[in-house]
Amino acid sequence: MVGQDVDTGIGWIKGFVNEYVFEDASGTYLVDASFSGSAKPIRRAFERAAADLSKVGTILLTHQHVDHIRGAAELERRSRAVVACHAADAPCVDGRVRPKMPMILRLFASVHPVPVKRELSDGDSVGPFRVVFAPGHTPGEVAFYLPERKVLFSGDSVVEKKGRLTLPAAGYASDIRQAVASLSILRKLDIELLLPGHGEPVRGDVPAKLDDLIARAPGEYLSRAKGG
Ligand SMILES: [Zn+2]
Ligand SMILES: [Zn+2]
Repeated sequence: MVGQDVDTGIGWIKGFVNEYVFEDASGTYLVDASFSGSAKPIRRAFERAAADLSKVGTILLTHQHVDHIRGAAELERRSRAVVACHAADAPCVDGRVRPKMPMILRLFASVHPVPVKRELSDGDSVGPFRVVFAPGHTPGEVAFYLPERKVLFSGDSVVEKKGRLTLPAAGYASDIRQAVASLSILRKLDIELLLPGHGEPVRGDVPAKLDDLIARAPGEYLSRAKGG
């Protein structure tokens, strides 16, 4: 398996930003593409597993933020994989529009635009994945759901910190109210394993942890957003 084995056919490339590799009979998929412009963590993980990067057929991007997509251009060049992301974030991924980046990311990272060959909408199927539109962190934030496996690749729609589910800081969100509202969309899914864009995989008590976040989110995120 490429990366750390988290479940059958699912490898976790652990870092400040997580990437995941999923394999089944329909092909090899990569969820997110690393902050590294040369996609170093991903290329290393494939090398360590003696796996061929060119077998990646689809690169699924959860959202436009540079820390999740910057390696995509290099990976696409090496693998000829189809890059897919939500239509609302595609113009920032393919370079038509300059992304609104948090200042800290703008200082450290140039954008590496990559052609988006497949623009996604809510409910679309990509192989075994169902696209779940959960906007707010960015206008085109999506999670990728494997209904048969009850696994959700959540990107930054919800992340893990110290054993709890949380939202990325409000300052990174295009619309924090929408990001909070999107938690209820995720709550409707039957999830046994949640694989976030940041933090550790969460297994087992995902519904309870989402309920806990939904209960505290208005106080933690919306009151602050009001002031600033
Ligand atoms: Zn993000
Ligand atoms: Zn992120």
